[in-house]
This record gives sequence, structure tokens and C-alpha cells, in this order.
Amino acid sequence: MSLIPHLACPQCGEGLQIRSAEWSGILDADVLNGVLYCDRGLHEYTIDEGVPVLLPPDMSAEQKQVADVYSDKWRRIPGYGYDDAALEFQREWYLQKFGWRTVDRFREFLLGQERVLDAGCGLGRDVKFYAENTNGLVFGVDISDSILVANERLRHLPNVHLIRADMTRLPFRANYFDFISSDQALHHTPDTRDSFNRLVDHVKPRGQIAIYVYKKKSPAREYADDMMRSYTTEMSYDDCAAFSSACALFGRTVAKLNLDLQRSIYWNLFKCFWDDRYDVTTNVLINMDWYHPKYAWRHSLDEVLSWYEKAGLAIQSTDVSDSGISIRGCK
Ligand SMILES: [Zn+2]
Repeated sequence: MSLIPHLACPQCGEGLQIRSAEWSGILDADVLNGVLYCDRGLHEYTIDEGVPVLLPPDMSAEQKQVADVYSDKWRRIPGYGYDDAALEFQREWYLQKFGWRTVDRFREFLLGQERVLDAGCGLGRDVKFYAENTNGLVFGVDISDSILVANERLRHLPNVHLIRADMTRLPFRANYFDFISSDQALHHTPDTRDSFNRLVDHVKPRGQIAIYVYKKKSPAREYADDMMRSYTTEMSYDDCAAFSSACALFGRTVAKLNLDLQRSIYWNLFKCFWDDRYDVTTNVLINMDWYHPKYAWRHSLDEVLSWYEKAGLAIQSTDVSDSGISIRGCK
């Protein structure tokens, strides 16, 4: 099934058309190359390695920094999170935090849904999960190059469509999706609440939206985060990787001496994440996800609940952990 009829120009909202197309024989009508332009003929978009690039041309320098940070990250570790143990762990966590608990209940929820969107899909791990559990179409968007890696991995799945796009200006019509999930991504946009409201516009009436955002920490930790991030977000990838590595190894050393001390430093002073269940690279990257992107907003439960309430959504599930807030609601 062709992707084009589903898309809308992220600048003017009109439908899109294609010229100079080469069609893939494998996926029937999926586009490999060509130029997309909107019905008004005002805006043009390229297709990169089979993935439509529907980014508006006027992204801010800060948004570009976030896109570059994640492009760098995912290009360096294209297999990240795809090993069996990581997939299992993430899926379990996903089902718990959004209230389904079991895959069967999640599958029941997806049954009969026509269109599902993962906003900020990274390497497409969740896209794969949805696609394996629904007969509907699953769309994934991400602002970074990660979408190309995701496409390499997932292009064989007939119900998956991946697009490089800005989740704050989605290339879709309003009221389009039965379910939108945005897991650990909204807090990296310029304004979490505004971006959430924009996603809600694309949810169908009686459709659902699930988000996970960072939780506010103790005042001292919040202060330290703001101060440290004012430096680390200006660093090059390599410099920030070295800094994040030092934080991880510090966390490991202190945790070996005294786990309570490490937890106390972590929650009250600064992020020095270390967890023995993960390898060194993963531990470093978890720190780096915190320190490098220009935007990494933190929120309180009341704040996020009020976004749902003011958007007229009925809460379906709430989960609060030390690190984040997960809420699912129905329009
Ligand atoms: Zn347009």
C-alpha cells in the first residue's frame, strides 16, 4: 500500500504528490526515489534511501542540534537495543508503564486499529513491536538519521511506513491515528506540552495517546542539571561522550563501594547513571542522552495530568517511576 496518500505537507497541510519516482518491486508501491511536492506546488521534499524527508526548512538551531545529536548517536550504534535481552526488557517495561501488562492485552487494544504512530521512533524498536501485533498500518517518524537505520531494519515488514519528520509538525492530517505513542521523546522537543498538544490534534476521536516524559528530580539535582547541561549541550559528540563516560564510571566506582551512596548522589546531586545489568556503552549512552541534547525537559505528575485534562482526554493509565512519568489517555 502506497504511503503517499497518507501524507500531508507539514508546512501547508495539503496532500502530497510524487515525481521522478522509481518504484520498489518488493513492496509493490513503496517509493524508493523521487521528489515529493504538495498539491499547492509550494513546497518540495526529497526522498532519502527510500525514506521521505518531510522536515520543514525553518527548524531552529536548537532543534537541529537535537536532530544532529541523535543522528550521531544512532549512526554509531545502529544495533543498539535490538539484541534479544534488550528487546525483551523494553517491551516488558512498555507494557507495564502504559498499563497493558501483557502482550495479549496490548494486542487486544490494537485489534481493529487502522493507523498507529510512533512519534520519535529512534531505531524503530517499538515500531517493530506494534507491527508484529497489529494488522493495521504502523507509522514511525523521527527527526534524526536514525530513521534510515530503522528503515534498513524494518522495510521488510509490509505494514510499516517510516518518515523523517519533526513530531511538532507532523506530515499527516488532523484526527488521523487510532493510537499515538511517544516514548521518551517529547521532552527533547522545544516545548513538551505544546508538542503533546500537537500530537493530540492527530489522534482520532476515541483514539488514544501514550507518552513517557522525564520526571522532575530533587531541587539540588535540578539545579545541577541545568548548570551542567548549559556546558554539556555545547560540547561536540566526542567530548560529551568522554564526559558521559566519566559520569558512568564514577557511578560504577561509587556503586561498588556503596550502592546507597551512589543512589543518593544520583538523585540529589548529578546524573552518574550506572546499572550492572547493562554494558558500558549502554550506561554511557544513558548518561549522554541526558547531557547532550539541547532540550531535556523534566515535569511533575500534576503538570502532565493537567495537559491530558485540558486536552479533554480521559486517563487510561498512569505510572510514575523515579525517572519518568507515563500516561495513556483517550480522546
Ligand atoms: Zn505545502
